[in-house]
This record gives sequence, structure tokens and C-alpha cells, in this order.
Amino acid sequence: MAAPKLAPLGTIYNKGDGISMAQEVGAKMWHMYNYESLGLLHGLSFDTPEGERSKLVLGWPELNHGSVFMVVDDRKRYFNEAGPNRHGHIFDHSIWRVPCSHEKPYIIFDQKQYETIEAGQIPYDKFNEKLIKADTLEELAEKTGVDINGLKEQVEMFNRFVENGHDDQFGRDIKSMAKFAEDGPFYAIKMAYNVLNTQGGSERNTKAEILDVNNNPIPHLYGAGELGGINANQYQGGGNLAECLIFGKIAGEQAANVMDEVADEASDKYNGINELADGDKIKDVKLDKD
Ligand SMILES: Cc1cc2nc3c(=O)[nH]c(=O)nc-3n(C[C@H](O)[C@H](O)[C@H](O)COP(=O)(O)OP(=O)(O)OC[C@H]3O[C@@H](n4cnc5c(N)ncnc54)[C@H](O)[C@@H]3O)c2cc1C
Repeated sequence: MAAPKLAPLGTIYNKGDGISMAQEVGAKMWHMYNYESLGLLHGLSFDTPEGERSKLVLGWPELNHGSVFMVVDDRKRYFNEAGPNRHGHIFDHSIWRVPCSHEKPYIIFDQKQYETIEAGQIPYDKFNEKLIKADTLEELAEKTGVDINGLKEQVEMFNRFVENGHDDQFGRDIKSMAKFAEDGPFYAIKMAYNVLNTQGGSERNTKAEILDVNNNPIPHLYGAGELGGINANQYQGGGNLAECLIFGKIAGEQAANVMDEVADEASDKYNGINELADGDKIKDVKLDKD
């Protein structure tokens, strides 16, 4: 799923070097379209500056229960804000999908909701810094750059659903919805699509061997973990760490099972430890199986 920008929830030191290294040796790539997200609202968390980690908050009921909803670029709601957390996936025509990303996702709420939020537990110390406050919806639209007609229409629609007892847009539980006040102030918070982990990278087989573009193992090259992980599409929670352990063990065993030509090559060219240091020849090293 294409996303022009994603806010990282994990390490900010992974910059794709593993992909470049695999490409250099002609490895075949797989799962490059796939990533997982998580958080507050179906794979969205607070917008953060480029290069900063985004905050993972799981469960903050005041941000999806009450006179509060989320809009995207066309100023319309995008999903059932109070729906179950599915690792960032959104229910779309009978399947849970990685969300389509948008440029301007915003949480919108009124003064009553703001007071409810303030009275509850706030699990994010920069919450107040992120708030955009306006006396009217018109002013809020101006401050956020959103289309005022779309925003007004969405508020009216949301209020009508509450009156009628049914969310015709996304089937949000009516008990989790409250009418927006007619008068301001109103608030917005800029959100960002986040990335928890990707599965993209070099394809490996069951022996953890990295494959070339013709599906042949690249000699002496093994892989484990999230770079080219085996999980794709309908990710099962826990799958990533499981494959780190499982493929780490397989890859380690394969690499330690040095084939003869590698040992000979290593002995001829250098001492088997590195080209400079003097040390044991690799063929003299005793493996457990000997
Ligand atoms: C918040 C969060 C929660 C998660 N929860 C779960 C969970 O509950 N269950 C689960 O299964 N998975 C979970 N995951 C995913 C899981 O943690 C990762 O898939 C897993 O840790 C990946 O391990 P790895 O060793 O393959 O890669 P990483 O842990 O990303 O390690 C790669 C390392 O390489 C380093 N590096 C990058 N480039 C270079 C370079 N050029 N030179 C040297 N070093 C470099 C990086 O600094 C990093 O230390 C979670 C991830 C996050 C972010």
C-alpha cells in the first residue's frame, strides 16, 4: 500500500540499508508493499516532525467516544473511530486492510469533549502542544486548511446520526457518539499514519537462504527477522518476534555449517577470521558435529 510518509513507532535508525545491501548482491525482494501500523485510531498517532518517533498510545477512550470524530482530506469521516483495534487494519468490503493514507488526517472535537479529555487520564505529555483551537468551525477550517463546507456537512451528518440512533456512515456504536455543540470553541489535532514494522526485504527459503531473482539461493547468504520477513498481508500479532527466533536459529545453524569450498577459500585467501589478524584456520576449528 503506497504511503508518501509514515511516522515510525519503532527505531528511527533503520534507514533501508538492508534493502540496498540485498539489492547489491541481486537478491529477490518480497512483501515490499506491506507494513503494519498500530495505535490510537487504526494505525494513526499524533503527527510528529520528520525524523522523530511517534508515540504509541493504545486505548484513549476520550478520543473516540463522545462528540469527537476523525476526518481526512475531503473533510469526511474515514472509519468507525470506536471500532476494535486490528493492528492498524481497517475493515473494507469484508477484509481488514492496511489503511490508505491521506495528507490531512485530523481528530475534531468540541469544548464539551475537550473538558472530558482534560478530566480523564492524558497518556501523552505533548497533548496540549498538538491542540488547534478555534472559536468557530469556520476558523477551525481556516487554521487547519480544511474545506469548511465539507467539515460543516460532516458535523451536521454526525449530529443527525446521533438523533436517529444509527451511524449510517460506518456503523459506530451509537452509545459512543454524542452531538457536537452548535457553538465553539472547537478543536483539531493533526494525526499521522504510523509504521510499526514492515515485512519488505530479501526473500528467504525455509533454510533461511536468501534467494536471487531466479529463486536460486545466493551462496553463503542467510537472513532472519523483519528484513524480508515471512509475514505478509493478514499479519498475526507475535509473528515478527517468532520469526526472529525461528529464522535466527535456522540461519545461524546454516551459516555455521560451513561448506568445504568456503573453508578452503577462506584458508587460501586469508586465515578465516579476517585478512589481517593471524589466527586459527577455519578448517582447524572443531564444530560440534565433528
Ligand atoms: C512498538 C513495537 C511493538 C512491537 N510489538 C511486537 C509484538 O508484540 N510481537 C511481535 O512479534 N513483534 C512486535 N514488533 C515487531 C518486532 O519488534 C520486530 O519485527 C523485530 O524486533 C525485528 O527484529 P530485527 O532484528 O529483524 O530488526 P530490528 O530490531 O529493527 O534490528 C535492526 C538493527 O539494525 C540496526 N541497523 C540498521 N541499519 C544499520 C546499519 N547500516 N549498520 C548497522 N546496524 C544497522 C538498527 O539500528 C537495529 O538495531 C513490535 C515493534 C514495535 C516497534
